[in-house]
Amino acid sequence: MRILVLGGGPAGLYFAYLMRREGLAREVCVAERNPRDATYGFGVVFSDTAMSYLEEGDEASFHALTAASETWDDLTIVHNDTRVPIDGNGFSAISRLQLLEMLQGFCDTAGVEMQYGRDLTEVPDGRTFDLIVGADGANSLVRSQMREAFGASVRELDNRFIWYGTAQVFDTLSLTFRGNGDGAFVAHHYRYRPDHSTFIVECDAATWEKSGLEQMSADASRAYCERVFAADLGGHPLETNNSFWRRFPVITNERWSHDNTVLIGDALRTIHFSIGSGTRLAMEDAIALFRAFRDHGPEVSDALAAFETARRPVVEKLLDAAAGSYGWYGRFSEFMHLTPLAFAHSYMTRTGRVSDDRLAKIAPRFMTAYTDEQNQLNETAGGDAPASRELRNT
Ligand SMILES: Cc1cc2nc3c(=O)[nH]c(=O)nc-3n(C[C@H](O)[C@H](O)[C@H](O)COP(=O)(O)OP(=O)(O)OC[C@H]3O[C@@H](n4cnc5c(N)ncnc54)[C@H](O)[C@@H]3O)c2cc1C
Repeated sequence: MRILVLGGGPAGLYFAYLMRREGLAREVCVAERNPRDATYGFGVVFSDTAMSYLEEGDEASFHALTAASETWDDLTIVHNDTRVPIDGNGFSAISRLQLLEMLQGFCDTAGVEMQYGRDLTEVPDGRTFDLIVGADGANSLVRSQMREAFGASVRELDNRFIWYGTAQVFDTLSLTFRGNGDGAFVAHHYRYRPDHSTFIVECDAATWEKSGLEQMSADASRAYCERVFAADLGGHPLETNNSFWRRFPVITNERWSHDNTVLIGDALRTIHFSIGSGTRLAMEDAIALFRAFRDHGPEVSDALAAFETARRPVVEKLLDAAAGSYGWYGRFSEFMHLTPLAFAHSYMTRTGRVSDDRLAKIAPRFMTAYTDEQNQLNETAGGDAPASRELRNT
């Protein structure tokens, strides 16, 4: 079998490697527009669940990944100046560049043909390959060229976000929510190297407008964010790397393949960064597509049908959770008046998929603190604590 993979991001590289490693394809070529050592972004975060899925996919790359990762057990919600630790939420993180280098090395060893600096402007004729994989990211050429065949849709969320890095290091994955005279901001930040962290800043449309960020230069908007999060950055500046304010594109496709062309990773669908990294999902897609060929190939149409049948329910569940999550982020400024514990509870239950019972099992220390506070507030308020009453009304 001859395969062309468009895009040498995590999805394309991992799929190419797995197919060659198992000898499922005679020839796998990855066409990537960037040079080998170019990348954007800072770190990539994986939950413990995601790591165990990657371990099942390929032990060698899993071990290389864990050896190079930063890990921690808890999550921290910072509500203005109050820190709320949430136990039982283990994560790992790695630099995006290091992850790509690792996957490139695996591809080299497995005999994948890598073509860097090849910027495709047209998807090659499907008859020249047995399989064409569109792993070309959120602005996928493959998807846009076959928009109707895939039933593609792209919708932008109202919130604005920007991806920064910083030399400030953080103990855990943290979500820091801070209000100012313009509205409210949240930073999603975590350490991905012993000396470096990812720092994503997000705000709603009203805050974006009132703050005047739209009219500011890149330097002025970075300085503005440094002021908002001065207490968290410990004097370290925010660093840019192809960083610009954007609206998150929610991408979906009614059909995942057309003839012998299939989409994976961000080209197929994006998952809001508030429920896990797109990288993790991109790599899970690669594993699922590889397994479909291993178990249902070599007939391409059978494998592509098996891929969609097995993976779609998993992805749709995550898309549902993501919709609950970005819906909450669109309104988080309305919840800022809650107590820090009640705010953290609202955050933890934002997807609608985590009940109090489940939270008590996952994060017993947090739930005990939250319940104690609610009981105390209830006693003081004669049975209807302000925090819980306001939460129920939202
Ligand atoms: C600015 C920005 C920063 C980000 N930073 C992070 C981060 O720090 N951590 C994180 O977890 N996630 C980050 N993400 C999200 C993350 O990059 C994706 O969710 C994840 O990489 C998806 O993997 P992928 O392989 O599907 O796509 P991508 O990683 O986007 O890879 C697609 C590849 O295809 C190539 N390509 C596209 N079109 C063509 C073409 N026509 N011809 C040839 N090559 C082409 C691109 O150059 C790219 O290398 C970031 C996203 C953006 C937009």
